[in-house]
Amino acid sequence: MVKICCIGAGYVGGPTMAVIALKCPSIEVAVVDISVSRIAAWNSDQLPIYEPGLDGVVKQCRGKNLFFSTDVEKHVCEADIVFVSVNTPTKTRGLGAGKAADLTYWESAARMIADVSKSDKIVVEKSTVPVKTAEAIEKILTHNGKGIKFQILSNPEFLAEGTAIQDLFEPDRVLIGGRETPEGQKAIQALKNVYAHWVPEGRILTTNLWSAELSKLAANAFLAQRISSVNAMSALCEATGANIQQVSYAVGKDSRIGPKFLNASVGFGGSCFQKDILNLVYICECNGLPEVAEYWKQVIKINDYQKSRFVNRVVASMFNTVANKKIAILGFAFKKDTGDTRETPAIDVCKGLLGDKARLSIYDPQHCEASQCNLGCL
Ligand code: NAD
Repeated sequence: MVKICCIGAGYVGGPTMAVIALKCPSIEVAVVDISVSRIAAWNSDQLPIYEPGLDGVVKQCRGKNLFFSTDVEKHVCEADIVFVSVNTPTKTRGLGAGKAADLTYWESAARMIADVSKSDKIVVEKSTVPVKTAEAIEKILTHNGKGIKFQILSNPEFLAEGTAIQDLFEPDRVLIGGRETPEGQKAIQALKNVYAHWVPEGRILTTNLWSAELSKLAANAFLAQRISSVNAMSALCEATGANIQQVSYAVGKDSRIGPKFLNASVGFGGSCFQKDILNLVYICECNGLPEVAEYWKQVIKINDYQKSRFVNRVVASMFNTVANKKIAILGFAFKKDTGDTRETPAIDVCKGLLGDKARLSIYDPQHCEASQCNLGCL
């Protein structure tokens, strides 16, 4: 029986592994995390994240071929394939602070894998990482002094929160990058065999390591760019009397453009888009491409502009002040069908309104903890 272990039981690790367990009854899947409370929640009736359809998938497999555990070392040691799905936030200090990805969690996971392994393994980058990360990880893993061989694959995750289960059941594509050596190709085939349980062969793409790593950053940058493009257009619509919904419908009808990700909004949020674009900007700068870095920075600049434009419009529409006015905020997560409040635009909107001394009542059906988002007086 093939054994899979996933380090990181978060928004990606949990649902992804639950679907692998459901679709591959012959594979034993262990999802491990250093967070005791998160693992306890995965083992309870109140899962740590809200995702439509997730409950049912977990209930079908948990205790059969899907396990959640804090015994990280044991499960890593036993696994043939180790996915690493730990968080890769933006660095807050030191070289590249405010832009580069913080790979602390990844590095410590890699060192632990090297330490505890007693047999050859395939290590899969599931987290979103900067291009060339696999090179650094390889260095850590190959210097294990035990003669154990590791093959590194990049298998970035393209699921969207809110539709994660549907996205995992029917992915547009599964991307697997590996070394162009015979061992690398063998590892790619082993991971392809896992996905082949339910993903049509034509949707499993294989590339070299660097293309797979960069494709994830590129995909998120392109998606965020569409949102900033339509939001930039919404400002022009408001200034001219055009209607952004009519414009985006007309634009999206063009088959070269398509209708998705063309809804004007308060701006994008979530833990990925901004951090991945900042990461891309940093990589461009490090590779001597300041003009390309500047290009992608504009996507974030427009997003920030859209959030403050929204607050300003609310204040302007209420006789130029919201001081002591009670305002209801309906929905606090960064989008519908999730309870995730990481980098939600609602934080900036609320802070803007609170800055003008508004009194806010916030409601979200997923019980998001607004009070944990550093809103000051809440
Ligand atoms: P998350 O914060 O929800 O989960 C990460 C988990 O890793 C946490 O529970 C943390 O405790 C655990 N962890 C950290 N270090 C560990 C270690 N050494 N050993 C064991 N557990 C450890 O993050 P997420 O949203 O699941 O994202 C994970 C990665 O996937 C990130 O790189 C992110 O950019 C990427 N990604 C996220 C999404 C998304 O929609 N959230 C989509 C695609 C890709």
